[in-house]
Amino acid sequence: MWEGMFDPNLYDQMHIEGQSAVALTVFAVGRYLDAYLKTFLISAEQHFMLGLPVTYYVFTDEPEKVPNVTLNAKRRLKIIQVQKYSRWQDISMMRMKTISEVIETDIRHHSGYVFCFDVDQEFKGRFGSEALGDSVALLHAHFYKLPKDRFTYDRNPKSKAFMQTGDFYYHAAIFGGLWENVKNLTDTCYANIMEDKLYDVEALWHDESHLNKYFWLYKPSKLLSPEYCWDPSIGDMTDIQVTRLVWAPKHYETLRT
Ligand code: UDP
Ligand code: UDP
Ligand code: MN
Repeated sequence: MWEGMFDPNLYDQMHIEGQSAVALTVFAVGRYLDAYLKTFLISAEQHFMLGLPVTYYVFTDEPEKVPNVTLNAKRRLKIIQVQKYSRWQDISMMRMKTISEVIETDIRHHSGYVFCFDVDQEFKGRFGSEALGDSVALLHAHFYKLPKDRFTYDRNPKSKAFMQTGDFYYHAAIFGGLWENVKNLTDTCYANIMEDKLYDVEALWHDESHLNKYFWLYKPSKLLSPEYCWDPSIGDMTDIQVTRLVWAPKHYETLRT
């Protein structure tokens, strides 16, 4: 999906008539809560799926610290306490298991669609119903123009994420789709992550490597352009007419455990 390739009103009309409902999952564990969550949520209320019912599922180790954000009509927020893994790699990877569990116990009874987001980002423009689809993946802003041999897939044959070749390099900061498909994705990635642990290997880019393997084997039905997750530090914006969501500044030294 690129600006100029779709009519936003047609998508909105179709999804309002079809009574589509959307679940958004986001994790804010440890220092990521104070650093990013409020900006993420406030900006989502300005740009994410406006006009549709949205339920935010905020996963955190400190529920009492979740900021009070005023929500538009038909939108609500659920807070779910999770444990804080000691390694940031595990905080990131284990999202797969938690998302799967919440789809099973809650999301599937309320929302047809699920979108899973990193918290270290800010909505800046329309991120609307055109992004909904059966299985949705995002082209990584740093890789969408690079030749395949530059893609940073996992290259270790011992890992379940191992890929010799592929078609696109997807960014794990956003994925989504019908809950059935996101359930299958998260279950598959989690099983593969755990099998790697059994053999004491870890994929190069953690959950992102497993996500890339999954979308290579089970093709997404919709691709989001890097407009949907742009890194403002990239100088070349010739393809980008609108930034819908941007990476927030990363401060790994102070934020990661
Ligand atoms: N995360 C978190 N606390 C942590 C590490 C990660 O809440 O200490 C969550 C958060 O939602 C974050 C996501 O896991 O956006 C992925 O981690 P990160 O954004 O650091 O990965 P990167 O964007 O560098 O791939
Ligand atoms: N990145 C990623 N997957 C990759 C390679 C990079 O998610 O396979 C992310 C990485 O976490 C970093 C950003 O893309 O946040 C830029 O990566 P790069 O190595 O270019 O530079 P960095 O800013 O990390 O020094
Ligand atoms: Mn991130």
